[in-house]
Amino acid sequence: MSSIKNAVRVPTLPIEIWFETGASYVWDVCGDDVRILRVKERKTRRFEGKNYLNALIEVATPEELGRFVEEFGCPIGKYGWFNFPLTILWDDFLEIQDRLRKAMVLQISKVLSRDEVKAIVNPDTFDIKVERREEVYYGTLTKDAVWESCYTVIIFERLLADTKYSICKECPNTFQITSGHRRKYCSERCAHNAAQQAFRERENEKSKNKKSKRLTPR
Ligand SMILES: [Zn+2]
Repeated sequence: MSSIKNAVRVPTLPIEIWFETGASYVWDVCGDDVRILRVKERKTRRFEGKNYLNALIEVATPEELGRFVEEFGCPIGKYGWFNFPLTILWDDFLEIQDRLRKAMVLQISKVLSRDEVKAIVNPDTFDIKVERREEVYYGTLTKDAVWESCYTVIIFERLLADTKYSICKECPNTFQITSGHRRKYCSERCAHNAAQQAFRERENEKSKNKKSKRLTPR
């Protein structure tokens, strides 16, 4: 089991993350909230995920959110294709920014263990397509242009940054290697579990040996 985990390698080909959206919108601001009035243009467009994330994080006023919607589409997928107008509550949007900002600085294992991240990102099976351009291969990953997709950008940036990660020998978590000392486990808990397990195995061995010595052939 652990040999499979240890075989995981961070990819070394360039990975590009793209976000796709099918429309841009006409909007206005109502109170502090942004109303999306109608589709301005239906046309599939793609953006680099990183640019999308940066633009989303930089939005500081409802007007800027309106311009974001016009350029990148509606960042909140749950609104889907309802009848217009649909309203993005400014407080909802601030909450989204807050979650992303936190994810950007959290330990990668903590990001991956968040329920909302688990629901949309499976780091075991990133659906990367490989494209050959001239002599160079690129990995591309395309996501819907909604805020949750930003987690993929954050995770990839962290995994591919000049930071070393290791995979816990006890559970699927990754952890950052922060010193020359080679840790084997993501947490004290996993280290403790592993020690307990080893202890039980040794005890089992001992009692087996005792039994086999005690046993006399009938
Ligand atoms: Zn662990």
